[in-house]
Amino acid sequence: MSSAPPQRPGLLTAGRPLVWDMLPAEQQPHWRDHSSYAATRRALLEAAPLVLPTEIAELRGQLAAVASGRARLLQAGDCAENLTEQTPRHIAGKISVLNALGDHLAARTGQDVVRIGRIGGQFAKPRSAATERHAGSELPSFRGHMVNAEEPTPEARQHDPRRMLLAYEAAALVSEHLREARHQGAAADSPRIASGPWASHEALVIDYEGPLVRSTPDGREYLASTHLPWIGERTRQPDSAHVDMLSVVQNPVACKIGPTAGPAEVVKLCGLLDPERSPGRLTLILRLGRTRAADVLPGIVDAVRHAGHPVIWAVDPMHGNTEHTQSGIKTRHLRHIAEETTVFLHVLERQGAHPGGLHLETAATDVTECLGAGIRSEDALDRSYTTLCDPRLNPEQAHELIRMLFRS
Ligand code: PEP
Ligand code: MN
Repeated sequence: MSSAPPQRPGLLTAGRPLVWDMLPAEQQPHWRDHSSYAATRRALLEAAPLVLPTEIAELRGQLAAVASGRARLLQAGDCAENLTEQTPRHIAGKISVLNALGDHLAARTGQDVVRIGRIGGQFAKPRSAATERHAGSELPSFRGHMVNAEEPTPEARQHDPRRMLLAYEAAALVSEHLREARHQGAAADSPRIASGPWASHEALVIDYEGPLVRSTPDGREYLASTHLPWIGERTRQPDSAHVDMLSVVQNPVACKIGPTAGPAEVVKLCGLLDPERSPGRLTLILRLGRTRAADVLPGIVDAVRHAGHPVIWAVDPMHGNTEHTQSGIKTRHLRHIAEETTVFLHVLERQGAHPGGLHLETAATDVTECLGAGIRSEDALDRSYTTLCDPRLNPEQAHELIRMLFRS
């Protein structure tokens, strides 16, 4: 007897697999034999949606304006959100920094800015290595607070599915704050349309995202975990669960593109994620690195435009420019970040396309994780190095970057 085919959401029941459980997926936690796995999955299937179809439709409209060159996109926030920083004070601080950066970018470019946080779900991290060495012993890598904890002990590094519910609860609180901030922004008497703040994160953990795919009133599917989910550089294989999931949902979606992606590969992804060639549907986030961007970008831009996809072109000048100090600390130089962004702006403008999006890793507090704008030496990195994963710009560095890029 053959088993029943995996189900598309809408028909799902707690005990049966979703279609994405059957597709290849890199970077997944190992926790399916955990005693709480089934109960956690049931809880997520029954949990309230964190974002609404009306919000997604509104954001898609605003992103269509970015795609057509009439507005800009700023996407910024933590590399990995910290579950111990999910208080009203922390959330308000992050929203206020995102809005201030958005205002600054709007003032410098003369365009409305759609503000999207890396917030309310950025709790899972892809890692290059599955394990790492600590004081002589080999431990599973830290994968974000949705999966395990950062302390370098075997207990802390175990993958625990109950963490998905902690992440969901934190995201629910963030979602309320974002909604409130959008209402306040809409009521404010401002010369520009301050769009957002909206939520985004890398849709990485299939066990979390799958149960949060829900139905829109007209019977289509949408991902209720965030407004704008993105696919990371390590999980964008065309046959992956990640690409399949984001290809069926109605949300605006994004995909990271690294330096090894060829134009044909990118066009293939565009075909899967934006088959209707709909402005605002797909954002390509280029993270090529300052040394490769000038060589790789023109071919990709050409091919995607030739294929007729009206994508938002965004640059992530962080992930291709990470380095280690003499003492082994991960850092990034503001001048390298500015350099890659400048190449991006020039190439897009030369090819007659709108360089609409800027994607940054930023902290809401005065951290010392990247070099530049007042943080002059590697020794100064020690003072407040609190990231759970990659080094973030502090607010002063992020504002300085906007000043360097868009001199008014
Ligand atoms: C990230 O955005 O934190 C990340 C892991 O990016 P990428 O998938 O581009 O490496
Ligand atoms: Mn990162």
